[in-house]
Amino acid sequence: MRLSVIGCGYLGAVHAAAMASIGHEVVGIDVDAGKIESLQAGRAPFFEPGLQEILTEGIASGRLRFSTDFADAAGSAVHFVGVGTPQQKDGYAADLTYVNAAVDALVPHLNAGDIVAGKSTVPVGTAAALAEKVAPTGATLVWNPEFLREGFAVQDTIDPDRLVAGVPAGPAGEQATAVLREVYHTAIAKDTPFIVTDYATAELVKVAANAFLATKISFINAMAEIAESTGADVTQLADAIGHDARIGRRFLGAGIGFGGGCLPKDIRAFSARAEELGRGESVAFLRQVDEINLRRRERAAQLVVDALDGSVYGRKVTVLGAAFKPHSDDIRDSPALDVAVRLHGLGAVVTVTDPEAIENARRVHPQLTYVHDRDEALTGADAVIVVTEWDQYRRELDPAHAASLVDGTIVVDGRNCLDPAAWRAAGWTYSGMGRP
Ligand code: NAD
Repeated sequence: MRLSVIGCGYLGAVHAAAMASIGHEVVGIDVDAGKIESLQAGRAPFFEPGLQEILTEGIASGRLRFSTDFADAAGSAVHFVGVGTPQQKDGYAADLTYVNAAVDALVPHLNAGDIVAGKSTVPVGTAAALAEKVAPTGATLVWNPEFLREGFAVQDTIDPDRLVAGVPAGPAGEQATAVLREVYHTAIAKDTPFIVTDYATAELVKVAANAFLATKISFINAMAEIAESTGADVTQLADAIGHDARIGRRFLGAGIGFGGGCLPKDIRAFSARAEELGRGESVAFLRQVDEINLRRRERAAQLVVDALDGSVYGRKVTVLGAAFKPHSDDIRDSPALDVAVRLHGLGAVVTVTDPEAIENARRVHPQLTYVHDRDEALTGADAVIVVTEWDQYRRELDPAHAASLVDGTIVVDGRNCLDPAAWRAAGWTYSGMGRP
């Protein structure tokens, strides 16, 4: 099938390349000429495992190309829209400028019978408004939210947990559903659940899923706060409650909390939309989820201060990690960088290292010092804090070797990803999050 993908960021570039990899003919369109030039040259503009391979393969096969010209979308059967929906600068609501601009630019190139499939995460009610823009062309709008996880985006796009499509009632919706089944034929052949519903439900499925995940993380971080006042160990608590299949152990990692380009802005946008609907109190707990999450970043910085006898001023602190999570170079609302910036603000001489995210981090926080080599970053440190659980720190960093590099054997484990016994045995003073 011929497909277009509007917006070639983390979602769109992966979607375009993944759709080409399963046999479709795809054009990716973006307003960022630099990004398009890089993609068309076969260079992934960001780090995402497996993307480079399917991008190279797609371009070489002739099935995948990229353009800044919306006219190149003409003739595609399905036009996916995956542009950004960031938090508004002056509030909690989602900024829909990019989604509206993308659909407006697409409309002149639509043919009757085309499908416009929204993938961006949007406030409930957006699809119904966009459907009105699309209707005069005879194309059909569907909402097909995306659930990919950065770090596993290629795999999640090709082999998702579930597919959701919000479609209009009637024959146009039925026809659009049949077309989407064809688009996702490889996943559907593997019995991937395909939930066909209305616009509002499809939009809400996405924000509800993210609200639930954020709540799960803040729940365990709230338990970490209680553990800190009682001497309990939140990791043992999580293991114990996680054995209950109704609870489950996943997403119960206490630490410096969630970040990235999705969960924080999505729960805030959900709160803002609920307020508009007069249902603010229904999701009032999301404010607390956000507050708990942000408190943990402060707590991690405080642990470093405490370990250095009350002041980090002039002390050398090595920050292991910058990306908001491992296997990604994404630093949007990264808790890791937030902690680094806080320590820098308290007067620490901060050195940040990360396997993939240094260039992105440097652009946003040029005031910090960045070192690519982990061991060089550790050399001479008065204290070390782990803020992104890359394998390079979690599994591959030998505490005895690390001790031989630093000046002070103080480690704060912001992700509870180190083995405290092994680090203590190597002479380190270890502090975790919600652990004695
Ligand atoms: P991103 O910032 O990486 O990419 C957005 C892209 O849209 C950019 O390349 C930008 O240049 C482009 N763009 C902006 N305006 C445009 C326009 N008018 N026409 C064409 N292109 C335009 O963002 P992302 O992480 O890919 O997220 C995109 C959407 O997908 C958001 O709504 C996000 O919430 C949602 N989402 C993201 C993920 C994820 O893990 N990144 C997962 C699920 C859903």
